Amino acid sequence: MTSSSELIGVIERRSAHNYHPLPVVIREAQGAWVTDVDGRRFLDCLAGYSSLNFGHGNEKIVEAAQRQLARLTLTSRAFYHDQFAEFCSGLGDLTGKDMILPMNTGAEAVETAIKVARKWGYEVKGVEPDQATIIVMEDNFHGRTTTIVSFSTDPDARGGFGPYTPGFKIVKYGSVEAVREAIDANTVAVLVEPIQGEAGVLVPPDGYLTQLRELCTAENILMIADEIQSGLGRTGRTFACEHEGVVPDMYVLGKALGGGVVPVSAVAANEDVLGVIKPGQHGSTFGGNPLACAVGNAVIEILRTGEFQERAARLGEVLHARLRELVGEGVVTVRGRGLWAGVDIDPSLATGRQVSEALMARGVLAKDTHGSTIRLAPPIVISEEDLLWAVEQLADAIASFR
Ligand SMILES: *Cc1c(COP(=O)(O)O)cnc(C)c1O
Repeated sequence: MTSSSELIGVIERRSAHNYHPLPVVIREAQGAWVTDVDGRRFLDCLAGYSSLNFGHGNEKIVEAAQRQLARLTLTSRAFYHDQFAEFCSGLGDLTGKDMILPMNTGAEAVETAIKVARKWGYEVKGVEPDQATIIVMEDNFHGRTTTIVSFSTDPDARGGFGPYTPGFKIVKYGSVEAVREAIDANTVAVLVEPIQGEAGVLVPPDGYLTQLRELCTAENILMIADEIQSGLGRTGRTFACEHEGVVPDMYVLGKALGGGVVPVSAVAANEDVLGVIKPGQHGSTFGGNPLACAVGNAVIEILRTGEFQERAARLGEVLHARLRELVGEGVVTVRGRGLWAGVDIDPSLATGRQVSEALMARGVLAKDTHGSTIRLAPPIVISEEDLLWAVEQLADAIASFR
């Protein structure tokens, strides 16, 4: 059997260096635990950036995938297939929206939302041709396509990839005033993460989403919520917007929608918005394929009971209560909602990378973001005991640098 160090050697030579992974080679997983090729077990506190909200090898999801794999995997959208009706009506009911447009990756769903908003701007709002602008937030993360990195403020994500797509105005996250000032006659949409995940699990001030909703309604602008990471149970609700009782005009979904099995993304909106897209104007060979829909249907079924949302809320309280005790003990601040936390480590002690490595040595997999922030987002199936154990490992890892 090949050891992890041999495999990492090959990967580092033969794969592009667009990631800097922790030195662990995972072979199998169940629930919240993964096992590497050397037989070591780790508690997964990243959960595929919240793609694995329902756990590795979730029985309902894997069964649905296996059943569908044996029957029908791809038709292309040139034809209908028998899983598509349930997917659209199920996700429509979950979001409370009339219509669904399925894609594969999150970035594709964001691109879809941008195209829909622009077309809506021209055809419904009456914006002059090619003048539409979309307001976006500083420190956003919406994906990696050339258009999306055009409005990133992260120099690594953006630098060297110009020329950039015009039509975006970047404003400070968390400030409704900044959005108000940026609005003009050509503004068609505001694109916002209800909680900024990649930026370090940044929760906006109370009332921000509500006021943004009111402003968008008053100005006839679409509110687009990128719930790719925040949605589908992570924060203790189906959607993070629900914490403020806010309903956006368009939901952008991905990650957990594919149950950690296949990429499944979608935008959900009412007919007055999504209806602007006509045959031939947008699409994807794999978007809405039978396997993706069967997996998505299992995910929607799981979310319908509210059980995972409640579990994330309850375990989230346990997690945040324990994490708050670490403030002053090498931790500067803790943020988050539900089973999702951003932990800022005192940068004079260690980098986030060093803490991630120390955590790995203690059997916990987590990933740093933006220098000295550790993000914790375990699968929602995690036991309370394992969750508390993970926080103890974090406390111990930080203590090792003091
Ligand atoms: C991950 C993510 C994306 C991009 O999704 P991909 O599937 O990686 O393309 C977009 N927006 C948010 C908020 C995300 O977390």
